[in-house]
Amino acid sequence: MTIKITKMEDRLPVCPYCEKELNEIYFRAKGLGYIEAQHDVYFCPHCRKILGIGTSRMM
Ligand SMILES: [Zn+2]
Repeated sequence: MTIKITKMEDRLPVCPYCEKELNEIYFRAKGLGYIEAQHDVYFCPHCRKILGIGTSRMM
């Protein structure tokens, strides 16, 4: 089984918590204290719930 991946530049992702469209995502580069400082914390600009934690800036 293969999954079809379609590029969707004209659709905005929706926050799973408040279900508002996300035309931007906020992040804090310093973590939240209890999370290690090299982790980025991404959160919804509307309800400020955490959408994900990334380590993309390791270089
Ligand atoms: Zn939200």
